[in-house]
Amino acid sequence: MSMNSARLPAADSPLLGGFSHTVNGESVPGASTFPVVNPSTGMAFAECPDAPAELLDRAVCAASTAQRAWKQLSFERRRGYLHDLAAALRAASTALAPLLTREQGKPLFRSRDEIERAAASLEALSNLELQPEVLRDDENGRTQIHFRPLGVVGAITPWNVPLVLAAPKIAQALYAGNTMVLKPSPYTPLTTLELGRISREVLPPGVLNVIAGSDDLGRWMTEHPGIAKISFTGSVATGKRVMASAAGSLKRLTLELGGNDPAIVLADADPRQIAERIFWAAFYNSGQTCMAIKRLYVHDRVYDALCEELARLARTVKVGDGMEEGVQIGPVQNRMQFQIVRDVLNETRALPGARILAGGNVAADGGYFVEPTVVAGVSEGCRLVDEETFGPVLPVIRFHDVEDAIARANDSRMGLGGSVWTSDLALGEAIAQRLEVGTAWVNHHSGVDMLIPFGGIKESGLGREFATMGLKGYTEAHVVRVPKLSQRTHAR
Ligand code: NAD
Repeated sequence: MSMNSARLPAADSPLLGGFSHTVNGESVPGASTFPVVNPSTGMAFAECPDAPAELLDRAVCAASTAQRAWKQLSFERRRGYLHDLAAALRAASTALAPLLTREQGKPLFRSRDEIERAAASLEALSNLELQPEVLRDDENGRTQIHFRPLGVVGAITPWNVPLVLAAPKIAQALYAGNTMVLKPSPYTPLTTLELGRISREVLPPGVLNVIAGSDDLGRWMTEHPGIAKISFTGSVATGKRVMASAAGSLKRLTLELGGNDPAIVLADADPRQIAERIFWAAFYNSGQTCMAIKRLYVHDRVYDALCEELARLARTVKVGDGMEEGVQIGPVQNRMQFQIVRDVLNETRALPGARILAGGNVAADGGYFVEPTVVAGVSEGCRLVDEETFGPVLPVIRFHDVEDAIARANDSRMGLGGSVWTSDLALGEAIAQRLEVGTAWVNHHSGVDMLIPFGGIKESGLGREFATMGLKGYTEAHVVRVPKLSQRTHAR
């Protein structure tokens, strides 16, 4: 990655500083720092402390020590702490939202929304019940399964929605009785460091440690013998690396990886009614959402009408610096991603039959802006359709036969989400059940609910987050078998 290729601002605008790691409830400033770039300007605006390997050791040690007392607390006590953290995060929203916009690029109202969603997830996940389950209770005795904490959880997050991805990991790990070392992406480390700072006032020391650094820091975490589980959200390629290096100490893993989500629009769908929902499911956060619509399959009968509606929306939304009033779509988050999107766009333009119906322009200088782009006349066999572009470019693919569309939708190594759009809900549900994905929606796409497990199949991930199923992923099953009192020997 190219953290050091940031352009520096003019000498009269000093970099924002004062950010620090949180280890054992204390502020740890960085001996060295790296620049954080505002994607709306392409300029470094802040400097972030860079954690060396010794600080990771200290953080793991603090988390491990803190876990001894933390795991003894009742669920109610831990819930209380997590609700207090949610309240403190909400209280900091006014100061945090502009920082999130400056480091990530998203419009300010989306940053406020992200902070609220992060706080709400801390509450919702710690409101769940995680009781021992009775597996058997008969003349042979009673067998129960208990869900015990694992120890220290290492959490690694990407740059698209840093707080919304970190908060549920914190909630699930801590509520289940674990402690945590959390590492944000080096592209968007600042609001997560601030969350760490906020937590110092709320949580017992060592329960949540937040340290920032390069990709190497993530790798060291996956190799660290003191970490029992890695909860990772990021790309498929990195997820595979995480899995390989976590194998050394047989760490437990939750992997939330990339997606190349298909949406299938049937002939009976009304293009005018569904266009706006489809548009935002594809272009929300400049297309930088794991579960964005990335391949839109549309029946021949409604193809032209839906293309027209989507192109109209793409032309009317306001793209710009997220700090500006009225902006709906910000820039692509970093230069590397911007270059990928630009390359994919250039390749797409050269494809025979491809038509850019709206957008297609990328900023020549300054911020990493790409217009929301709707592309018609493309099909499988090109990068835009076959790979996860992770940017605001949507391929609209024509189909005639729904069986063919289902087969093409499923013909992917990824399997995060998918959707079916139709006025026949029963048909939609039947097709949704055939999509090879972790979550299939009807007349809707994207969005998570803390009470519903979320995750991918195939190369989109391993395990589930959220709901009791997600919570159990932060525990070890512990079976206890007790004979009936009258028995002298254990039942077999
Ligand atoms: P990335 O894989 O490049 O980086 C993610 C994190 O991993 C960063 O913190 C990075 O520093 C760290 N990292 C890098 N190399 C590492 C290594 N060898 N070992 C351990 N950690 C390492 O991903 P990204 O580009 O930041 O994020 C975009 C990707 O995330 C997309 O593919 C997107 O679909 C995916 N994503 C998935 C979900 C989901 O819930 N399934 C949610 C959001 C994003």
